[in-house]
Amino acid sequence: MSTDYSFMIDDLLVWYDANARELPWRNQSNPYYTWVSEIMLQQTRVEAVKGYFARFIHALPTIEHLAKASPDQLLKLWEGLGYYNRVRNMQKAAITVVEQYNGELPKDYHALLSLSGIGTYTAGAIASIAYQIPVPAVDGNVLRVTKRLTGSYDDIMLPKIKKELETDMLKIMPATRSGDLNQAIMDLGATVCIPNGKPLCSQCPLSHNCKAFQENLTDVLPVKSSKKSRRLEDKTVFLFSCNGEYALHQRMEKGLLAGLWEFPNVNEKLTLEKLEQLLEEHGVSRYELELLGPGKHIFSHVEWHMIGYRITLEEKNIDLFDELVWASKELIREQYALPTAFKTYTEQL
Ligand code: SF4
Repeated sequence: MSTDYSFMIDDLLVWYDANARELPWRNQSNPYYTWVSEIMLQQTRVEAVKGYFARFIHALPTIEHLAKASPDQLLKLWEGLGYYNRVRNMQKAAITVVEQYNGELPKDYHALLSLSGIGTYTAGAIASIAYQIPVPAVDGNVLRVTKRLTGSYDDIMLPKIKKELETDMLKIMPATRSGDLNQAIMDLGATVCIPNGKPLCSQCPLSHNCKAFQENLTDVLPVKSSKKSRRLEDKTVFLFSCNGEYALHQRMEKGLLAGLWEFPNVNEKLTLEKLEQLLEEHGVSRYELELLGPGKHIFSHVEWHMIGYRITLEEKNIDLFDELVWASKELIREQYALPTAFKTYTEQL
């Protein structure tokens, strides 16, 4: 069913003129900055993204630089943001942009959409914000605000609901200021019509037109079906150290955290007794052991529940894991991209 959202445009733009957030990637008319920031902002808070954005743009100031970056540099720049396929896809897209578009993101919504890792939201954001093309950029913020405004019980997790909203929003995009309208809804969703806890309706420019506010439904809208429950995985993480260096292992090229570095680990929680037995079976006899305690990391589909051990060795001759590399604490911080999942143990280097 189609809904006309044109009633919100004027109020939103007036509100945006007075309340737009100042963000380092805004008002610079640089499509590359819009692209990088929008990809980083998926799943990460604005405040956290600011530092990552500055570091990334400093190291890779243009699309050509991104296209040529080494995999290690890319992963290191993305370290801590998670969802590492995003930056790999960005590089694939950057290579296409250099080869086919002379290093400039195309000024066409469908051409943007054809690039690796760019979906309807990102294509809409780049097209409207950087090129003023009148297309929407529908994300969780837009879904939440519009469903509250209209008092709709649509489940915002369903792809067809997002598609319907994209169609409705496309019809009302103004010929000018489409980028401002998209950013106005993003900002309203991030600062006023907030997702968890009570929205700040008394500060909202749309409250006189909002069903959720008028009918006291802000606690129940939007409807969001819960995701499938996550798989739980136990792990034992080893901080092997020898003469000031630590053992690292590179993850496989495919799957979760593909290609990133990790501390050697096994998929079970080993008791001290079992660990000593394992070390003995692999001929490791001279070492000191320290229990490092529990760690937990939640991915979208899986949860890791970890315990860690520091194992200080006299020699590096352990055959418990294949292809270990050894690096000092400083080198690990500078060069090796270790995912946040291991943060509990990285902090104990
Ligand atoms: Fe959201 Fe409240 Fe504004 Fe309605 S009035 S759009 S619920 S902040």
